[in-house]
Amino acid sequence: MYRPETSAEIAALYQEMILDHYRRPRNKGKLDNPDATAEMRNPLCGDEIDLHVNFSGDALAELKFSGRGCSISLASASMMTQIVEGKSASEVDAIRSRFRELMLGDLTAASDTKLGALRALSGVSRFPARVKCALLAWNALDSVLAGRKA
Ligand code: ZN
Repeated sequence: MYRPETSAEIAALYQEMILDHYRRPRNKGKLDNPDATAEMRNPLCGDEIDLHVNFSGDALAELKFSGRGCSISLASASMMTQIVEGKSASEVDAIRSRFRELMLGDLTAASDTKLGALRALSGVSRFPARVKCALLAWNALDSVLAGRKA
């Protein structure tokens, strides 16, 4: 298995992962009869995300997203749906707070395996305007989960 060694190799690998999720988004589409939905826009960049969720107990059983925008916003949405699907509310809480720490530049989060493919977005933290792109899908998820608790 190929193991990247230098920071340039890691950056190239991360860029490739972002483009892969952008070109072949996972969980793209809509659910027929979703338990909850949320729509979020990032007017600064023109990104739009529409998130559909089905719950099973307190777990996120199924997620789909649609929308349009830049590679960062769509790759983050695609990666998010993959990593939180099937997880309990407390597991999802841990992942989303860790991802926010990553976007705020927390270097320990950049090597946290709990974040899986999301670590590919670690470089985004250096560009505050793009952090809004990366967090758009997560804000939609927050909205869905907040509605759930109400
Ligand atoms: Zn964007």
